[in-house]
Amino acid sequence: MKAVAVFPGKREVHVIDEPAPRISNPTQARLRVLDVGVCGTDREICAFEYGTPPAGVSHLVIGHESLSRVEEVGPGVTKVRPGDLVVTMVRRPCVHAHCGACTQGRQDFCFTGDFEERGIKSRHGFMTEQIVEDERYLVPVPQSLREVAVLVEPLTIAEKALIQLWDVQERLPWVCPHRPGQNHGHCRRALVLGAGPVGLLGAMALRARDFETIVYAREKTPNPKADVAAQIGATYVSSGDVSPDQIAARFGAIDVVYEAAGASKVAFDVMQAMGPNSVFIFTGVPGRKAPIPIDTDLVMRNLVLKNQIVYGTVNAGRDAFEAAVSDVGDFLKRWPEATRALISGRHPVEKAQELLLGRTGGIKHVLAFAD
Ligand code: BGC
Repeated sequence: MKAVAVFPGKREVHVIDEPAPRISNPTQARLRVLDVGVCGTDREICAFEYGTPPAGVSHLVIGHESLSRVEEVGPGVTKVRPGDLVVTMVRRPCVHAHCGACTQGRQDFCFTGDFEERGIKSRHGFMTEQIVEDERYLVPVPQSLREVAVLVEPLTIAEKALIQLWDVQERLPWVCPHRPGQNHGHCRRALVLGAGPVGLLGAMALRARDFETIVYAREKTPNPKADVAAQIGATYVSSGDVSPDQIAARFGAIDVVYEAAGASKVAFDVMQAMGPNSVFIFTGVPGRKAPIPIDTDLVMRNLVLKNQIVYGTVNAGRDAFEAAVSDVGDFLKRWPEATRALISGRHPVEKAQELLLGRTGGIKHVLAFAD
């Protein structure tokens, strides 16, 4: 069985031969992997900025954005059947009884840091032909989403961020109260930093909730990412045309910043231009470069004097995965062309090296393991 693996210490990606996995527990299912997305985290793992092989193993099979078809189920499996499409969750709980998150099935908030992540940290991932997984980590997907459901996992990042956003902004119930028939964001303005898959999926999630949405990214227009933004009713702005300190003057006060660029300089520049009661959400993981100077007094003054909130969010629980499945379906209905345009190419496994180590244009590239 083919699998895409990295070996710590070598900046190489190999297609290796792995034994096919077997069901060893009644609540497990064996899945045929269909699509696996290639993302920035995978590229960082290949460059050894991130990622850990399983204990005692010299390689890590990568890949964590997946869509699979159930082929076989153990006798204790009740929620999925052979033929069902599923997206597999990424993180597995730590073993510590005192971790109040993992013991409750919310390992996306693990306190100890001893969680594992398939394809990232201490467990093999999904860039392979078959996997076996406990049904509790499988999220069913309607057959109608076959062509785009590989976008579910990267969308869970925005879904988790938005679930928390509503919790946080409940502190302002008298501003723009929610009315039946209207989406939460209808009187709010959001700025998305970055126009990669996480940024554009975040912009779609915000537009689907009626936020006025501005996508702020490096590339000048015209470009395919700006086209997607236009199709979903967002405004695309290049940082080459408008500097962070001009954003508020140009568009008005920003209520929410959804950072999806992983570049700390621009993020903190934008943060300094945020208005009262705003929320800044970090999702990017920057590489460790030389320190970047920032005006900490100004940031701290603003946070206090403007009631601002900053939070980071990583990984996702079942609630965010289910919301993402529902939203991908909604996106496909509302914006069929833009949703399909997020997938720039489907490639055979032999293209893995090039996609992971080379410079690829486009938005989201997918390795297709089966039809
Ligand atoms: C994945 C998350 C994961 C994070 C950190 C992201 O690319 O989508 O599931 O928690 O990397 O490892």
